[in-house]
Amino acid sequence: MTERHPIDLEALYIDLHRHPELSFQETRTAGVITRELAALGLEFEEGIGKTGVATTIRNGNGPVVWLRADMDALPVEEDTGLAYASTARGTDPAGTDVPVMHACGHDMHVTALLGALEKLLATREEWSGTVVAVFQPAEEYGAGSQAMIADGVLDRFPKPDVVLGQHLTPLPAGVIGVRPGTQMAASDGLSVRLLGRGGHGSRPHATIDPVVMAAATVMRLQTVVSREVDPREMAVVTVGSIHAGLKNNIIPAEAKLELSLRYPNDDARADVMARVERIVRAEAAASGAEEEPVISIDHTLPPTINDHDATARLTAAFDNAFGAGTVIDPGMFTGSEDVSWFARESGVPLVFWFWGGVDPQTYADAEAAGRIAQDIPTNHSPLFAPVLHPTIERGVDALVVAATEFLD
Ligand code: ZN
Ligand code: ZN
Repeated sequence: MTERHPIDLEALYIDLHRHPELSFQETRTAGVITRELAALGLEFEEGIGKTGVATTIRNGNGPVVWLRADMDALPVEEDTGLAYASTARGTDPAGTDVPVMHACGHDMHVTALLGALEKLLATREEWSGTVVAVFQPAEEYGAGSQAMIADGVLDRFPKPDVVLGQHLTPLPAGVIGVRPGTQMAASDGLSVRLLGRGGHGSRPHATIDPVVMAAATVMRLQTVVSREVDPREMAVVTVGSIHAGLKNNIIPAEAKLELSLRYPNDDARADVMARVERIVRAEAAASGAEEEPVISIDHTLPPTINDHDATARLTAAFDNAFGAGTVIDPGMFTGSEDVSWFARESGVPLVFWFWGGVDPQTYADAEAAGRIAQDIPTNHSPLFAPVLHPTIERGVDALVVAATEFLD
């Protein structure tokens, strides 16, 4: 066997960090990935779900393990002051010129997965089975995994027996956070059009006022969580935007609300959705609306639910590889992810874990001062800046340990 030149992961990360790309525009990133895959001697397919890339390592009989990394960046202006800070700009879907930054660590996800593939190739005498690596676009839109599935990624590559993925988070570097069951919430974005009848502001009796209808609906929606959901359960109903009217003496014909809903599982989703719909329709009826409100779902992210048995196996494997106590339960995150579509569509277990990228001393100082929320920048912050080491190494090794745990 020829000696392979190892990938310079630090240089790779810095290059990706300097060149972030918005969702579904990750063409340069995909090019870096395919260049490295080719250097590793791996065949790949690109342009899956627009900009996605996937590759397979076939190594005899055994389970099929999918490893997933997302690759998109965010419209955030980097303020870290790092020598390799991004000054990139991009064009968002509305056509607006925006700053672009890897403020969620997806550059680290890509780096770790490429490093893991290199290690898995180097140790292929020690395992058998198939590894499929998926580099997914547009996680920040909650749309990339569905785009890859719609483009046939589950048919074009060996079907998974387990789907594994990881996300960088503001924990101390070296620490891994994972829990069985719901790791991240499900979420839906809803638009609601409340249809009234417009007219002159001086003649309200001749109209059906959608402004009053919207106000009553927003207030009544607050009772879903406070009066209807079991207080022991988690749910969020946020009305994030409300628009109606153009002028003080015109009663508009309609009002539009935009809602963000969050819940821990599919049952709670169905329950909250039904309650929201009941209230929207009932308030329209209470206003005497002659047309039914129009409710549409703009996007849906499933709950990220970690399989209990697989998570127990993985926790033991991480503790065994990195030392007892490496793994903590970080609690449920109210944010959402689209990684689970790969597992749900295939009907197989998922484990999605978090790993830390904060200098351990900085973290300890903030913790001692009771200032973690103030002093430790979170994902999506212009100050989000993982330390390079041991974050890169732990990200690579976590994927390798996890993959080999589920391979033969
Ligand atoms: Zn993010
Ligand atoms: Zn992210």
